[in-house]
Amino acid sequence: MIDWSEEQQLAKDAIRRFVEKEVAPLNEELEYGSMPPYDIIKKMYQTFGVDEIARARFEKTIEREKAIEAGEEPSQFESSSNMDDLGIDTILSMELCRHSAGIVTAMGVTQLAAGAIMSQGNVEQKHRWGLDLLTADKIGSWAITEPGSGSDAFGGMTCTASLQDNGDYLLNGSKTFITNGPYADTIVFICKQVEEGVAPRQRKILTFVLDKGMAGLDQSKPLRKMGLHSSPTGQLFLDNVVAGPERLLAGLKTKSAKKKSDPKATFAAERAGVVSMSLGIVERCLELCIDYAKERVQWEKPIGEYQLIQLKLANMEVARFNIENMLFSYIERKAKGKAMSFAEASAMKLYSTQAAVDVASEAIQLFGGNGYMSEYKVEQLYRDARVMRIYGGTDEMQVRAIARDLLSR
Ligand SMILES: Cc1cc2nc3c(=O)[nH]c(=O)nc-3n(C[C@H](O)[C@H](O)[C@H](O)COP(=O)(O)OP(=O)(O)OC[C@H]3O[C@@H](n4cnc5c(N)ncnc54)[C@H](O)[C@@H]3O)c2cc1C
Repeated sequence: MIDWSEEQQLAKDAIRRFVEKEVAPLNEELEYGSMPPYDIIKKMYQTFGVDEIARARFEKTIEREKAIEAGEEPSQFESSSNMDDLGIDTILSMELCRHSAGIVTAMGVTQLAAGAIMSQGNVEQKHRWGLDLLTADKIGSWAITEPGSGSDAFGGMTCTASLQDNGDYLLNGSKTFITNGPYADTIVFICKQVEEGVAPRQRKILTFVLDKGMAGLDQSKPLRKMGLHSSPTGQLFLDNVVAGPERLLAGLKTKSAKKKSDPKATFAAERAGVVSMSLGIVERCLELCIDYAKERVQWEKPIGEYQLIQLKLANMEVARFNIENMLFSYIERKAKGKAMSFAEASAMKLYSTQAAVDVASEAIQLFGGNGYMSEYKVEQLYRDARVMRIYGGTDEMQVRAIARDLLSR
């Protein structure tokens, strides 16, 4: 893939018009007010048929699941990646990031929660919780990070599930930095089973699905943060929450299902997803900078005539070109069923997010004092980009994944 297809370009134009009409005018409320992004996401899903695509995919998955339950290894039901569907996800993400990257994060984390349920849940759990998340009718959270464990999320995890004599589990502990945490209807909660005689780091990881309003579950107000204001982030506190076994995601037993529910596959998809966000931010910065470089006059010349400014523009274009190529490669490989390795996904995240932060920072510089003012947008693009080097695994964790892979050869 070296360019968007005609169909994808049409979709891109339509989504851009939608975002400019429906999202951009709400920026003040999303950035500085308390407007959550969920109505926008729902409207967008309905307008572009993303909810319908999700329903169709869901039906396919259930068919496959039934085959699994009947004891078949269901290769004939495997849904191949659909190029157009993939394009739509990617285009939505890029176009939204030009204005408000937080909406993409809120949307993406609901899909992450859906993904965990769809890959590890049984048919009943998929029907009960999965579908409404896939269609964005409900809001989802995926809760792994804790105050004491972030990069070392699994090893340092202290949230617990204690099995009771009646088969229920008692859940305790707290989670932090949870996207959609304050509003989530459905929470995928990851914790460790209490196992006497087993060292805490070695204890079994369990994943539960929780509902808003369960006794003992407290969802905090949104935390204040540097950027990504249109994505509410919060804490979760669990005090003896009773979860029946029907809330435990047990994972599926077939080879193909196991591969899909591998946390590394989730992390790889999450990492690769950030590339389209980076591209949206870089494209927008570049456009704004080109216009400004032509308009802004100093020493009686547009600043674009100075080589130091031209160097900034050229570096931005190199970054844009590289990220776009990475994205095209990712889309095409996925469409052909050749998933990225974990190290490759990490390399894409590391490069594209650092490039997006550098571009946005240089955009502020190019705008001078105006760049520091909210009115000129590049400061929001910088604040929104900055978190991408932290969440979904910090830069340092991407380096670790890449280097480990290289050294294991
Ligand atoms: C806006 C936002 C939204 C988020 N959403 C979610 C969410 O929905 N769900 C969720 O579960 N989490 C979420 N997170 C949490 C995020 O994934 C973590 O913040 C991230 O993984 C880093 O963990 P930490 O903040 O605890 O940093 P730490 O792990 O404490 O790291 C601190 C520093 O030490 C470095 N470091 C750590 N270990 C090593 C090492 N071995 N070698 C070298 N350097 C190291 C890190 O790279 C970092 O620079 C979100 C975070 C933010 C900011």
